[in-house]
Amino acid sequence: MALATRLYLLKIFVMEEIHEFRIFKKDYPLLAQPNNAKFNGFVYVFKISRNDPVFQQIGLLHMEMMKKYNEPFFGFWAVRRNYTKKELADAKLFRFKIKTAFEPAGEECGTEYDEKVACEICGANRKQIGPLKLKKGSIPKKDIARTIAGEVVVSENFATVFKQHPLKGALFAPVIFVKGTSGYYQLIASSPELELTKHTIAGGNPFDLPKESTEALEFVVSGGYKVRIEKMVLKCPKGHTIGPRLISEAYVFDSPAINDNDFFVSRQKTGAKQGLLRPEPIYFCSPTFRKMVEDEKLSGFDFEITHVE
Ligand SMILES: [Zn+2]
Repeated sequence: MALATRLYLLKIFVMEEIHEFRIFKKDYPLLAQPNNAKFNGFVYVFKISRNDPVFQQIGLLHMEMMKKYNEPFFGFWAVRRNYTKKELADAKLFRFKIKTAFEPAGEECGTEYDEKVACEICGANRKQIGPLKLKKGSIPKKDIARTIAGEVVVSENFATVFKQHPLKGALFAPVIFVKGTSGYYQLIASSPELELTKHTIAGGNPFDLPKESTEALEFVVSGGYKVRIEKMVLKCPKGHTIGPRLISEAYVFDSPAINDNDFFVSRQKTGAKQGLLRPEPIYFCSPTFRKMVEDEKLSGFDFEITHVE
């Protein structure tokens, strides 16, 4: 069989992983030409698989530039996974990404936290005291969204259909505006936390796998203002955080809780403490939850398959 035909058949039967890189104009000439980049007026955009020779080239140039100048070769990286119908039908668990983030965060609107119970190294696991308070008019018109600090908010419609189905593993606490209730709810997991396995890879991007921490930086910007960036712990030695963001799909250990619930969070978190930001868990759901989101056309979700080991 011709290679092209075999690759085509392969594509039908397995997930396709497409990496998007955006390359600065000044750096683009370093890549072999011609290639399939699209110039959008600001940057060159590649949407490629790991097998594409350009993927390796971008990786080598990135590592070289980081070593020489401590500067990335690309300004943006994201991955999109397209699954086959069979893979989706066979999946036992899904990870969902919350597509929209907004400000101001709860802390800026009077939500109280006990920071004393948080990890002194990475800042994970502070305790929220009392209701989530947010600013009126700041919540996006989606069925799910998160603040930049990782507080998850759902619409009244979401809370209603979740209870009607009925699904398990979530609590809905009213979100408070300065004047009274908001009609939105904070989504809180009531199921046992799921444990990620070592196959779950986190980092800055596919070529930049986790360092333990970044150093504090201080520099002067125009106007003579001093900017200070705090030291960030990217991988907590106590195991609370695994890196800035997920690079791979998520892998979790099997647990009886998976069959008994429809919504879950991971015990290990991604991200780092920085200003208002805190490490955030990964969100998971059952196939029934995903079907509800699709049937009811709930907005703000993006799903990926999670592997149960
Ligand atoms: Zn920690």
